[in-house]
Amino acid sequence: MKKHNFYAGPSILSQYTIDHCVDAIRDFAGTGLSILEISHRSKEFTAVMDEAEQLFKELLDIPAGYRVIFLGGGASTQFCMVPMNLLKTKAAYLDTGTWANKAIKEAKLFGEVCVVGSSKEDNYTYIPKGYTVPADVDYFHITTNNTIYGTEIREDYDVPVRLVADMSSDIFSRPVDVSKYDLIYGGAQKNIAPAGVTFIIIKEEVLGRMEGVRVLPTMLNYKTHVEKGSMFNTPPVFPVYAALQTLKWYKELGGVKELQRIDEEKAAVLYDAIDSSKMFVGTVKAEDRSIMNVCFVMKPEYKELEKDFLEFATSKGIVGIKGHRSVGGFRASLYNALPLESVKVLTAAMKEFENK
Ligand SMILES: *Cc1c(COP(=O)(O)O)cnc(C)c1O
Repeated sequence: MKKHNFYAGPSILSQYTIDHCVDAIRDFAGTGLSILEISHRSKEFTAVMDEAEQLFKELLDIPAGYRVIFLGGGASTQFCMVPMNLLKTKAAYLDTGTWANKAIKEAKLFGEVCVVGSSKEDNYTYIPKGYTVPADVDYFHITTNNTIYGTEIREDYDVPVRLVADMSSDIFSRPVDVSKYDLIYGGAQKNIAPAGVTFIIIKEEVLGRMEGVRVLPTMLNYKTHVEKGSMFNTPPVFPVYAALQTLKWYKELGGVKELQRIDEEKAAVLYDAIDSSKMFVGTVKAEDRSIMNVCFVMKPEYKELEKDFLEFATSKGIVGIKGHRSVGGFRASLYNALPLESVKVLTAAMKEFENK
């Protein structure tokens, strides 16, 4: 049976990415070697790394003065690397959920953290607004897409301080004005590649900001990796190769604007089905709904049917819609590689179940 993959991460990859990866596992770039066994210093792989940085810049229209690097360690390592490299005395954070909290916890190891807004008391069902960011902080950190709670910041904030964003789960779902950010990071396993690689878009000006403030371990200093073009140590060779294939596919599709159009259409189909349903209900405030991770539950009077719906959906080839334990119910992740057809299979299953 055809499967419809709604997993939140690692998550669906395009057939284009998978096919090119399969080919490269057998014979990478005509070398007669597998991508899994080639030296990261080979000219064939250094070309992959260079092209991945270039294409990342091209697709997101990243201005001059920025670099893109690919590291291991996941977005979670960035939770500490960001403050280690950028926080001198004080930083502001927006508390929008689990991932934001993990970032806040790490930042506190390096300085004062001012949480300017939080939607915790409402189980993170909206994005806090109307707060002020103190002008004297070293940076302001946001999580643009809250993968677990299904809220999203779909704009580039104007703030009077340096802006840092975790875009793990919504990068390449809309054009981003990168010039407003000092640093953007994310695990690639949501919208780009298999697990194992983390992307970092960093303003060159940020490098070396901690000189005279704190001594940084070599591997945790952005400068180390920027200077060596992500080749200071062995990079995650295969995930970077896969990431490049996805970026090529994005370019073929028509770039980020086209991805945004497709993503918004997919999300609209699902949210419409939820809003017009007697049985299902969305969990977050409409204006802050994520177009990447759609969270919904069953209305109180149908609550005991959630398990049955999961089984019913499974019988239709729908995979990965069980909600995160902190929200319950269902979460459908609609990443770029998920076809509209899969969303329609899900909404049809919801209707069929409801009518039964
Ligand atoms: C998945 C996720 C993370 C964690 O990524 P790892 O690569 O597992 O460390 C961090 N932030 C957000 C927004 C995520 O969705």
